[in-house]
Amino acid sequence: MTTPATQPTPITVAYGDGIGPSIMEATLRILEAAGARLQTEVIEVGEKVYLAGHASGIAPSAWDSLRRTKVFLKAPISTPQGGGYKSLNVSTRKSLGLFANVRPCTAFAPMVPTRHPGMDVVIVRENEEDLYAGIEHRQTEEVYQCLKLITRPGCERIVRYAFEYARLHGRKRVTCFVKDNIMKMTDGLFHEVFDEIGALYPDIARDSMIVDIGAARLADTPERFDVIVMPNLYGDILSDVAAQIAGSIGMAGSANIGDQCAMFEAIHGSAPDLAGKDVANPSGLLQGAVQMLLHIGQADVATRVQNAWLRTLEDGVHTADIHRPGTSTALVGTREFASAVIARM
Ligand code: NAD
Repeated sequence: MTTPATQPTPITVAYGDGIGPSIMEATLRILEAAGARLQTEVIEVGEKVYLAGHASGIAPSAWDSLRRTKVFLKAPISTPQGGGYKSLNVSTRKSLGLFANVRPCTAFAPMVPTRHPGMDVVIVRENEEDLYAGIEHRQTEEVYQCLKLITRPGCERIVRYAFEYARLHGRKRVTCFVKDNIMKMTDGLFHEVFDEIGALYPDIARDSMIVDIGAARLADTPERFDVIVMPNLYGDILSDVAAQIAGSIGMAGSANIGDQCAMFEAIHGSAPDLAGKDVANPSGLLQGAVQMLLHIGQADVATRVQNAWLRTLEDGVHTADIHRPGTSTALVGTREFASAVIARM
């Protein structure tokens, strides 16, 4: 059991772009009301920083804060599509060595309507390699190339993490999604390592699926899955799908874990269509913050936040993305949702 920390834990906070500032403000209000012992350092990342001329989306001084605190609570940021700047999310994960991305996608039925009330899936996504390794270039005027990089140490680390996670959290099965019928060497290596390391965990069941049929089964019967480990790109895409199946993409949080540092966020993006309207659901970032509280040894605060959040959902106080006539009792905006959570502590 983790001993509750009494000293404030220094963390770095970024308010991000789009809906980022409003969901971060809501989340920090809830954490403060719950008595979180935090000492926050705010850094600027994302659009404003890109436009100020830092192509990485982050100023050098901000790295100092991240390397000092080693804990990053980050709201979503906008990344220009196609040309322009590199993704700060990808750079942060690589620069801080955040090799494991843990994305719980849990149904909160009947409070939040879903066709799959029994769904409780954790996606463990490899976070540094694959097509996100950043090796992309133009070969000719008409041919562009992106390299898929998979290493044995990278596979071993993420697969071991997935089995250790399963053991620690009382999970029964780890499933591997790969496309090794086509990418025989890269995904083949991931699968091979999965079998090798899985054999060291006889207490945890394991199986593997080709990612396309795995995705179809995840959409159809998500209840059959427990922990799923997969390479970077599949994990990025399928965790959004899984979060939406569980109820809303606005509900899922995400932990990016490394040996030294960790970053916590919502799985969704900056939703520019909702920016400045006070309608976004802050739950995804709040769930990321709950993972952070557990990581820094403040399980007491994490429980307080989680219980108040669940009571709010149970009472039918819902933001627009999960609001349904009949189930919901109140349609609230971001700020009012945070106040409702605080009122239930
Ligand atoms: P998105 O996840 O931002 O939004 C997709 C849609 O989902 C939104 O239009 C909205 O209707 C809904 N949605 C998302 N979050 C919600 C919330 N909290 N409450 C209610 N509804 C919510 O995806 P996108 O529109 O493809 O991406 C927008 C920007 O975000 C892009 O620049 C992208 O690069 C960036 N992005 C950032 C991160 C990150 O910072 N970790 C992750 C994904 C995308």
